Amino acid sequence: MTPDLDPSTVVPAGMTPDLDPSTVVVHAGRPARVPDAPLGESPVFSSTYIAGGNRGYGRFDNDAWAALETTLGALEGGRGLSFASGMAAAAAVCDLVPVGGRVVAPQHAYSGVLALLDQQAATGRLTVTRVSITDSAAVSAAVVGADMLWIESPTNPAMEVADIPLLAAAGRAAGATVVVDNTFATPLLQQPLSMGADIVMHSATKFIAGHSDVVLGAVVTASDSLWTALELRRRSLGAIPGPMEAFLALRGLRTLALRLEKAQSNAAFLAQRLLEHPRVSLVRYPGLADDPGHALAATQMSGFGAILAFEVGGDAAYAQKICESTTLWVHATSLGGVESMLERRRRWAIEVPTIPEDLIRLSVGIEHPADLWADLHQALS
Ligand SMILES: *Cc1c(COP(=O)(O)O)cnc(C)c1O
Repeated sequence: MTPDLDPSTVVPAGMTPDLDPSTVVVHAGRPARVPDAPLGESPVFSSTYIAGGNRGYGRFDNDAWAALETTLGALEGGRGLSFASGMAAAAAVCDLVPVGGRVVAPQHAYSGVLALLDQQAATGRLTVTRVSITDSAAVSAAVVGADMLWIESPTNPAMEVADIPLLAAAGRAAGATVVVDNTFATPLLQQPLSMGADIVMHSATKFIAGHSDVVLGAVVTASDSLWTALELRRRSLGAIPGPMEAFLALRGLRTLALRLEKAQSNAAFLAQRLLEHPRVSLVRYPGLADDPGHALAATQMSGFGAILAFEVGGDAAYAQKICESTTLWVHATSLGGVESMLERRRRWAIEVPTIPEDLIRLSVGIEHPADLWADLHQALS
């Protein structure tokens, strides 16, 4: 699919395209600077609008959505569309697949997306081909004749890195719509549309909102026809964000560059400490020089992110005990908040069985690295 968006609508008025993303994330999506205007968009709490204009009804339009969408669009290089959750965004994207169509999806990816695809396959709505997303030759072969290629990179929670430019080219050559779940990387570290993807999907619940107080999702596309098709699904399937959630997500997004810088440097520090710990058998973090995804991540990401995973010699009970023994780290699911969190992913029945039982996923926050390591170190003992 060729991008058919006028680039002048991507960058908000008054902003030049050469600004650094860390500047764009602060200033995009704000009201025009006219006397007495507020600095930011406020959430509008109205289920409908006075007749005679274009807005119509509260399920179609809200100023708080538009501000968030403009900002995400400016960062990803497309037009944004917010949804009630990351899964609502994923479901709208999957609904683009024609009935009886085929989706190529990673063997390891966010468990909820894989479960959604399995549910749709079980009803006969579509078929799914699972591939190892790091095996570019296998993905390129599988995508021939497919309708959609679903990529996640780095993958949750295996931390595999997909060759996005190569796979996007293969997907497009095959006529498939190429989707990238960009939740782990965030729009600041990776811009899949610039690498050939058709649609970027986010769980804005995670790094974008960043404070573990919102459930929200988004898509960004540079194709007007895809944007229109997705907007139609949002209004007809009804998975719209609440105005307050969109407001909170945008408020959180303003500090993403700062949060990420700190969390990412903490993650790199902890990855190294874990690597040196005698009870740790494997550390999965693309920032480590020996990680299988390191070289590729270095070419397509501007940083390695703040999520990592580690294993403890196959001992699931020990891994579970570690998660239950921290006092600073929060034992909880989810990720991308300012608070460091950890979890043994296989505690969930829905998690893919090829994810090791002893794999612990760390979502590294913005606390002091020495405090984070001290707590993890005592939990490991
Ligand atoms: C959390 C997550 C989702 C789902 O998003 P929700 O906001 O929880 O619905 C999708 N993809 C990835 C990679 C995630 O981590």
